[in-house]
Amino acid sequence: NLLIKMDPEMDSQLRIGFIGAGNMAFGIAKGIVSSGNTLPANIKVSAPSNRNFDRFQDIGITTTHSNVELVCGSDIVFVAVKPHLVRDVLNETTVHFTDKHIVVSVAAGVTLETLEELLPEGASVIRLIPNLPCIVQEGALLFTRGSCAKPTDGVLLRSLLQHCGLVEEGPESWLDIHTGLSGSGVAFVYLFAEALAEGAVKMGMPSSLAHTIASQTVLGAGRLLRDSGKHPAQLRSEVCTPGGTTIYGLHTLEQGGVRASTISAVESATERARQLG
Ligand code: NAD
Repeated sequence: NLLIKMDPEMDSQLRIGFIGAGNMAFGIAKGIVSSGNTLPANIKVSAPSNRNFDRFQDIGITTTHSNVELVCGSDIVFVAVKPHLVRDVLNETTVHFTDKHIVVSVAAGVTLETLEELLPEGASVIRLIPNLPCIVQEGALLFTRGSCAKPTDGVLLRSLLQHCGLVEEGPESWLDIHTGLSGSGVAFVYLFAEALAEGAVKMGMPSSLAHTIASQTVLGAGRLLRDSGKHPAQLRSEVCTPGGTTIYGLHTLEQGGVRASTISAVESATERARQLG
C-alpha cells in the first residue's frame, strides 16, 4: 500500500470512495474516470438513498448505502457531504480508518483541526476546495495537507485530479479565499454573463441568442486568458481601439463601480466562508 501511495503511475490499483453522492462527488469522480488511470469499478459512492445514484452507475461507478463498507473497501476516501454532516459520518466510520487511508474532505469550512480530531491519531487528512466546473473537467481546486499527510499523498491527489481542472496546493488560510474567488466566483461570472445578455436584449437581440453568445463570450475570454498566460489588463488593452466601442463600454462599467464591487464580493464571500468555519 505504501508503494501505491508513492507512485502516481499506480493509480489504476487504487480504490477510491466517496461518502456523499452529490454534485461535487460526481464532478470529481467523473474527472478521475476520464483520466483513464482508474477503473470505474474501483470507485464507489455511498449515500443514504438511491437518489443521484443513476449518474454514477451510468459511468460504471458502484454504489452502496453503507459508509462503513465504503471506508473498509477504499484506499482514498473523499468526504463529500454537506459540512454539518461531516461530524456524523466521521463519527460513524472513524474506527474503520487505518493508517493506510488517505482522507480528502471537500466540506467547506470544516478545518483540518476538526477533521484530525474526528479521525484516528496519525490519519493522513487533506482538505480540498473544488468548484462546480469540475463537472466539465474545468474546475479550480486548491488543497492543503494535514499534519500527517505526506508530500507523496499530495502528489497522488494531484495525479488523481489532473482531469478535474487546475489543481494547486497552498496553506489552509488560503482555502476560504479560494472559496470566495473560485467557489463563489463561478456565480459572479454567471451574473456577469446574464447581465451581458440582458444588455443585448435591451438593444433588440432575441434572448436565447443573446444568452448563447454571452456564454460563448465568457468561455472564449476565459480560455484566451488562461491559454495566453497574459495579464487580463493586457488582453483588455489589446481589445481597446482608441476611441472605439470597447473603451466606451469599459468607461461605463468603471462608472458603475464593477471593479470595486467585484473586489468587495470576493472579500465578503471569503469572510462568510471564515464565519462558517
Ligand atoms: P449535495 O447536497 O449535492 O450532496 C451531498 C450528498 O451527501 C447527497 O448525495 C446526500 O445524499 C449525501 N448524504 C447526506 N447524508 C449522508 C450520510 N449520512 N452519509 C453519506 N452521504 C450522505 O452537496 P454538494 O454540492 O455536492 O456539496 C458537498 C460538499 O462539497 C459540501 O460539504 C460543500 O461544502 C462542498 N463544496 C461544494 C462546492 C460546490 O460548488 N457545490 C464547492 C466547494 C465545496
